[in-house]
Amino acid sequence: MTWNRFTAFFKCNSLLLVFLILLPLHLLASDPYDKKRQEMVEKDIKARGVKDKKVLEVIGKVPRHLFVDKNLMDKAYGDHPLPIGEGQTISQPYVVALMTEALKLKPTDRVLEIGTGSGYQAAVLAEIVIKEVYTVEIRKPLVDMAAKRLKDLGYKNVKVRYADGYFGWEEYSPFDAIIVTAAANHIPPPLIKQLKEGGRLIIPLGSTVYYQVLTLVTKKKGELKLEQMGPVAFVPMIGEVKKIK
Ligand code: SAH
Repeated sequence: MTWNRFTAFFKCNSLLLVFLILLPLHLLASDPYDKKRQEMVEKDIKARGVKDKKVLEVIGKVPRHLFVDKNLMDKAYGDHPLPIGEGQTISQPYVVALMTEALKLKPTDRVLEIGTGSGYQAAVLAEIVIKEVYTVEIRKPLVDMAAKRLKDLGYKNVKVRYADGYFGWEEYSPFDAIIVTAAANHIPPPLIKQLKEGGRLIIPLGSTVYYQVLTLVTKKKGELKLEQMGPVAFVPMIGEVKKIK
């Protein structure tokens, strides 16, 4: 091939070459679970009455399959909880959506989560609020796993702490919203104290053996207003909460 013919060949095919180079990059960037995730939002969440546009958008965006073990990835968008190690579970997607919607979050809100688990709920919260999400977990292996995962996925506004969430996170209080993702037989008083006036707290309240009632608590003029949202089944909160019957 003469030089002229070579340059002519290259000019004619340069677009094709660029396309061939970019193709694998494009495939790497696309998310193979996106279709499943959008179907889940429609069928399991929107159809059951969750309306908040931001919550639906965020659940349709956060890669839930990256918050579970590799062998469970294909089940990540199913209508059920999944094991996350240490005998704990990541909640059913609908319950995550329902609890998040109930908190009526504004982008400027400061949120506390008790029970980091896989870090999925924290990621959902972090997509909604600009300010930091504070999340407390009592099991060290889960703290380490969730903190690494959230960092690798680029969530810079989540702070994870290894502690008993019964005591909240005083240093960063008061919070506009608090979400407890483990079952308790009473609302830990430190959490009520760390909730802002006008703030919302959601917690699965009741027996920690069978099922609980998802309860939304609003603090108004120092008084608590309780609203029961329906039955749920969460793993029990452990630590200090067990000492008080
Ligand atoms: N929100 C999590 C799932 C929570 S499962 C997610 O999105 O994956 C409940 C979690 O609460 C478990 O990880 C459990 O270890 C934790 N937990 C139980 N008691 C706790 C306590 N007293 N303080 C903080 N975390 C607690």
